[in-house]
Amino acid sequence: MSRFAKERPVVYWEEPEAAVAGCEPALGVRTCAETGVIVVTPSLPEGMDEAARDAALKALLDDFLAQYEQPAIRWYYTPMMLPFSRHIETDCTVYDCMDELANFRFAPSQLLDLERELLAAADLVFTGGYSLYEAKKDRHPNVHPFPSSVDRAHFGQARAMDAAPDDQACIRRPRFGFYGVIDERMDLELIAKLADAHPEWSVVMVGPVVKIDQADLPQRANIHYLGSKKYEELPVYLGGWDVALMPFAINESTKFISPTKTPEYLAGGRPVVSTGITDVIRHYADLEAVFIADGADAFTEACEKAFALAQGSDDWLTEVDAKLANISWDTTYARMAGLVRDALAGSQSTATGPRLITSAGKKKYDYLVVGAGFAGSVLAERLASQHDARVLVIDKRPHVAGNAYDHYDKAGVLIHQYGPHIFHANSDEIVDYLSQFTRWRPYEHRVLAEVRGQLVPIPINRTTLNKLFGLNLQTDEEAAAYLASRAEPVETIRTSEDVVISAVGRELYELFFQGYTRKQWGLDPSELDKQVTSRIPTRTNTDDRYFGDKHQIMPADGYTAMFNAMLDHPNIDVLLSTDYKDVVDEVDAGHLIFTGPIDEYFGFRFGKLPYRSLRFEHQTVQQEWLQPVAVVNYPNPDVPYTRITEYKHLTGQTHPNTSITYEYPSAEGDPYYPIPRPENQELFKKYEALADATPNVTFVGRLATYRYYNMDQIVGQALATFRRIDAKRKASGKPVAKAVWTEAAE
Ligand code: FAD
Ligand code: UDP
Repeated sequence: MSRFAKERPVVYWEEPEAAVAGCEPALGVRTCAETGVIVVTPSLPEGMDEAARDAALKALLDDFLAQYEQPAIRWYYTPMMLPFSRHIETDCTVYDCMDELANFRFAPSQLLDLERELLAAADLVFTGGYSLYEAKKDRHPNVHPFPSSVDRAHFGQARAMDAAPDDQACIRRPRFGFYGVIDERMDLELIAKLADAHPEWSVVMVGPVVKIDQADLPQRANIHYLGSKKYEELPVYLGGWDVALMPFAINESTKFISPTKTPEYLAGGRPVVSTGITDVIRHYADLEAVFIADGADAFTEACEKAFALAQGSDDWLTEVDAKLANISWDTTYARMAGLVRDALAGSQSTATGPRLITSAGKKKYDYLVVGAGFAGSVLAERLASQHDARVLVIDKRPHVAGNAYDHYDKAGVLIHQYGPHIFHANSDEIVDYLSQFTRWRPYEHRVLAEVRGQLVPIPINRTTLNKLFGLNLQTDEEAAAYLASRAEPVETIRTSEDVVISAVGRELYELFFQGYTRKQWGLDPSELDKQVTSRIPTRTNTDDRYFGDKHQIMPADGYTAMFNAMLDHPNIDVLLSTDYKDVVDEVDAGHLIFTGPIDEYFGFRFGKLPYRSLRFEHQTVQQEWLQPVAVVNYPNPDVPYTRITEYKHLTGQTHPNTSITYEYPSAEGDPYYPIPRPENQELFKKYEALADATPNVTFVGRLATYRYYNMDQIVGQALATFRRIDAKRKASGKPVAKAVWTEAAE
């Protein structure tokens, strides 16, 4: 809510409070100073029947909302709020389902009917965990799971806590603690037996007792009920425990829960002992510090083990922190906000992003940019923001971002439409430039190759050699000597075969490169320029990262979100699903920037430049993970595809299912790869000469300059192109750019 409140007013409508009979229904309204969230608390006189209560709440709500033009979004945590708010007209309704409420004790009988109504009315359904997602996913076309995130900084305070609250300081250690609502979901007997099994331990229970009788709580000298505490205080209590507990009963009311306290406890640096809650097992049971045990004996034994772990070294925190690093409220917010935006727009996200137009019309532009990929979008952004130029960007595809386009597939997994795009760069300037339009998540790419029935690292490194040949090479020197004994000297390295043979010899060349390259390019490595396989280093150490660049990062909300931000400028219009040839005569623009294939621009007058294409086969698999790393390569010539990509490794998304892409190389299809061969370069040079002699047109990008460039290189090329345009403008006496990135690599 606090994150959304930065974007728009957020009103949080609470459950009504009871006021004395006879007084008027009223509203308490306060604005949270820290977040700006407006909290509204109705109070209703006791004794009203249900119909009267709903009517009173409806009147209060209408009255309150009169001050706003129109609420754009209704957001429900419970269907029970529907009866007095269903009439409010909105552009988007969200059902944010946090629990299977109908399974709770004293659940109102109309809850199921109301939930049905809410599901029918909702544009979006979010669930507070995967089990709940599975329970709801067939009941609505737009359901998305959002397991709990964690405020790591807040709960992390527990790791170095020396303050002890008075009511806990007097409780002797070791302490086994729980915080949360104490209700029918708690296994009270389990708690009693744990306390009995270890009278020398203390069990600390923090939280309100709800819906169950205080008298039913087990009472022992070593069980301490400390009552409700504020969110701010939780780390202080957690910091004083040795082990954190989740002693839930396993029944209908806990079947779908996804306890937020699991990551909180872990962020606080405490081992966790839980009963067999499905979502805890699903997401956390792989951690050394998470113990799952059902039944009093097993639970007690697990507590003993957890306590022993807590007494020892902190090594187990490393994997805990790695897991927590992927769960953040910022990411959750970004994804939710994106989905809400899409729902508001009725389709793909446009609410903040490029100004999409539907025809070139009669408007006058300074620049027409063909292609909304990196080359076109960077130039459009620079020209609009730095020269105040009016720019029309067109793309024949129905989306921006060119080959880097990513989107959520039907299953809700973020995928790359045109194969895996991993960002890596050495230039700070290029990263700084793009950082204006995105936050980043660290990601180091690792690839395995299936060779002789094993998955081994590629680029070839010491581990690859040891695994493949059953060796025990211990040092860089040993690995280097081994490779040298296999390498075949090549006098002048010209081809992609020369590169590999001279580094690792024929056997490894055939195993890793020959088949893959023949498939990928339709050519033998001996027929390809050395630059192709030179992209892949050979290592004598055990570094198994695919890239060695200084920056290895991915846009936190994906590439398309980054492009949307880049093109979000009042001077930029974007026209999609439009081929340049179809509108070039209508568009009134002073200058053309062309990022499509250069041979196509000139009507193929010297013949076609060869490109290699790919066919992508996207699939969703009904399991959480498929392969150990993002990309597995298949160099074997008998396998028809070159590689399989599993996106969640790249994006950090958590989802119960996983989406993958097979890549089948092909001679036909979209032009993805310029083919680096001397004769192709010669042909390109002819087109380039023509391009140089064509006034008012700038050719930029992978297709227009016919080079096997990565994304960062294209950004560098586009920034350099802008600098040249800027310099020309300066020479003509016009104002120069407000800020120019000076050192971007070309
Ligand atoms: P593009 O992204 O191709 O954009 C050109 C745009 O122009 C396209 O959207 C096209 O539709 C449009 N267009 C063309 N002709 C016309 C026309 N006549 N009318 C209207 N529009 C037109 N790089 C990396 O750094 N890391 C990676 O991991 C990586 N992986 C890759 C994987 C694959 C499978 C591929 C194919 C490329 C990969 N790349 C990677 C390279 C990266 O895609 C390119 O460097 C980058 O997309 C080039 O940007 P661009 O703007 O030059 O071209
Ligand atoms: N390559 C190979 N085997 C592999 C990986 C790469 O033969 O397991 C060769 C192949 O010719 C490929 C080239 O090295 O086209 C460059 O690989 P890279 O992963 O850089 O290609 P990308 O798909 O990123 O363009």
